[in-house]
Amino acid sequence: MYITMVGAEFAPVAKVGGLGDAIHGLSRELARQGNEVEVILPKYDSLRLDLVEDLHPALEGISVPFYGQELPCDVECGHVDGIRCFFIDPHSEHEFFNRGVIYGETDDPGRFAFFSRAVLELLLKRDKQPDIIHCHDWQTALVPVLLWEVFEALGLTHPRVCHTLHNLAHQGVAGDYVLRAVGLDPGRLTTSDRLADWGNPQAINLLKGAIVYASAVTTVSPRHAWEILSTDQGMGLQETLQTHRHKLCGVINGVDEEVWNPQTDPHIFQTYGPDSLPGKFRDKLALRRHLGLADAEKPLVAVVSRLDRQKGIELLSHTVNYSLASGCQIVLLGSASEPWIDELFRDIKQRTDGSADCRLVLGYDEELAHQIHAGADIMVIPSLYEPCGLTQMSAMKYGVVPVVRQVGGLADTVFDANHSDKAFEELNGFLFEDFTTKGLESALGRAIRLWLKYPEYFRQLRLNGMHRDVSWAKPGRQYMDVFKRIKA
Ligand code: ADP
Repeated sequence: MYITMVGAEFAPVAKVGGLGDAIHGLSRELARQGNEVEVILPKYDSLRLDLVEDLHPALEGISVPFYGQELPCDVECGHVDGIRCFFIDPHSEHEFFNRGVIYGETDDPGRFAFFSRAVLELLLKRDKQPDIIHCHDWQTALVPVLLWEVFEALGLTHPRVCHTLHNLAHQGVAGDYVLRAVGLDPGRLTTSDRLADWGNPQAINLLKGAIVYASAVTTVSPRHAWEILSTDQGMGLQETLQTHRHKLCGVINGVDEEVWNPQTDPHIFQTYGPDSLPGKFRDKLALRRHLGLADAEKPLVAVVSRLDRQKGIELLSHTVNYSLASGCQIVLLGSASEPWIDELFRDIKQRTDGSADCRLVLGYDEELAHQIHAGADIMVIPSLYEPCGLTQMSAMKYGVVPVVRQVGGLADTVFDANHSDKAFEELNGFLFEDFTTKGLESALGRAIRLWLKYPEYFRQLRLNGMHRDVSWAKPGRQYMDVFKRIKA
């Protein structure tokens, strides 16, 4: 198949978070499976051009209508990790993509509506049309709307759109002027069955448009697909999702095994694999020395996380207290998303910095994240909600046993050592349901006791996790099934 990926991020050239990694990993896998894959991105001024090979003008340029003007754009082409990428570079006083940042501007809906229109202008101008346009999150949500409302009649008849929901917390709510700006008819589209926002019918909701107009809608785990249909995790879009539920399914993300692999990881003290697990113990010693923790016969509990409400702030702070009270060592690496959270963890840090069993590192540190994976025994992920989650899967690859809340992708990838009906070889961690300190203790307590009392069983859980296939191979095949279904 010929697949065009459209998103606001693509790692490593334009990455803010997991979205960039997911589009990168999936694109490479689909190409590996024999498909023709390309990516279209804005040419941000912050783009890592040093990581783009052979950047050159792609065609003579395109012209994109915006507020009744025709804005000229250059289109450049280059390769990133073997994937062909097109970069759209508008020449206009708006300086849409010359803001030093990818998101966070007050005119984000307008900037990305412009980008969505530019993508279709580019596809229309080329000789060959893709089979599938795969769009991601609210920034590209107008692509399917524009395709069916405008571009099909202009001759773009071949592609079908699959839209993936990575995070419903951001939906692209804006005034209807955004539609007018890119040549859509607000009168026709601001109805409750189309783009009128569920919370404010005077506003438009771009993500809702994608759910209504795309041929397939996916999210990043089967459990989260159910959650957004049936619980308040749909964040107001439940009704629209219910109406279009026949188009919805969940496909779990993969892990980039070139980045997360204890057998080749350049950041860790000693590489190891399932057949050389004792190597992990040397990483534990190295981590302790690096962070100034005591060499003691204790389980090492870890947290590597954004410190955000989504990640379960009160349970993360309780993890520190409970681990210490249970005779463990605890390492927490995290960066806070709000001042009150930063303050809370700075307080805990101040209180515990003298301890030989506890270290909080507040900030973002990729190398330390890898070293913690290599050195830790238990990784705690008590999220309030978690569409997919990467950390539980990377932890497993490093032989770290995850203790997670039973939500979203966590529930789809972690199988409880005591309470799962899965085969023994698939048991790989501990789950809890209640978002309370007691809930957390019910799972973390079991993990700690197993480490202390039944080390051989604990070792088996590590190995089960390490043997689990968390690559992009299976998700790649599942996306192909979705694409084939909508092209049939
Ligand atoms: P989300 O994308 O919601 O933050 P995920 O679990 O999907 O959560 O992915 C988070 C990724 O970011 C993981 O690879 C994790 O190791 C990494 N990470 C999170 N916080 C930090 C930090 N403070 N320093 C380094 N890496 C971090």
